[in-house]
Amino acid sequence: MLKVSHISKSYGSIKAINDLSFEVKEGEIFGLLGVNGAGKTTTFRMIVGLLQPDEGTITINNKPIDYDISDDIGFLTEERSLFIKMTVLEQVLFYGNLKGLSNKEIEKRLDYWLDRLKIPEYKNEKIKNLSKGNQQKIQFIAAVINEPKLLVLDEPFTGLDPFNVDILMTALREMAVKGTIVIFASHRMEHVEMFCDRLLILVKGDKVLEGSLKDIKNEYLKKSIKIKGDIDIKKIKEIKGVERVIKTSDEIIVKVANIDIVKKVFNVIKNSKNIIKFEVEDPSLNEIFISKVGDYFEE
Ligand code: ATP
Repeated sequence: MLKVSHISKSYGSIKAINDLSFEVKEGEIFGLLGVNGAGKTTTFRMIVGLLQPDEGTITINNKPIDYDISDDIGFLTEERSLFIKMTVLEQVLFYGNLKGLSNKEIEKRLDYWLDRLKIPEYKNEKIKNLSKGNQQKIQFIAAVINEPKLLVLDEPFTGLDPFNVDILMTALREMAVKGTIVIFASHRMEHVEMFCDRLLILVKGDKVLEGSLKDIKNEYLKKSIKIKGDIDIKKIKEIKGVERVIKTSDEIIVKVANIDIVKKVFNVIKNSKNIIKFEVEDPSLNEIFISKVGDYFEE
């Protein structure tokens, strides 16, 4: 288990992380979310041992992060850290050797991953000749070449098309099932929603929300109703608890404060003509994120 306990970190007068605690178990996929500058990269750097917290502790299976443990960690940084004049094989050998692996073992694992990520033809190609998305895949392979127990991924899906996002997510889920702890940051809420089991939202270094995706959605009371038909929008707007009514090209979206308001909206429109759709939806993670982060900035 990864245990982050009461860590804080300042850069001069800037408090980047303030008394942050969370735990991630083996096999869990954990998302760290936050707007730009919220403190995600700082947290990751402390977890992988590149930065020391000013206060607090970080342990993996009760052991502090040190050189012994770093061979069991994989880190995909947000910025590219590839030597563009090297070939893919040379690059991955370089990172694998740093982790103490033999050339034979590295090449075996590289062949597996190149096949898995559907780019076996690039093994002896120079990094600079690869597309951005394929460079991202090589960076990912470099991060997992040591079969890490803890895998930290800062924006892992950057530059990947939906097809490749899917391939990578599937591979990562398999690693999690085998016991890897996966922590990642992404600004793309649809990726977080598809991918993570639990998440934490940081705002200016403070934790503002933590929980499973399911619980977070259940606890967020606001709902959206999607309606198709000839309805009187004015009457809906007059209902107390209706927060917004949005008219799109083919339907009307009614944002309501909680499930009780759904019944009131239904009662108002039930005798309207041609109602062909009345659907209540949970909020998207995007909506929850904007609301939580927005609340904090408005305070
Ligand atoms: P992004 O989503 O933009 O990558 P982030 O959530 O990863 O942002 P951090 O990079 O951890 O955020 O930055 C947290 C805060 O610390 C910001 O206010 C940032 O300006 C500051 N910061 C980060 N690194 C340094 C540094 N080396 N020196 C001074 N301030 C820093």
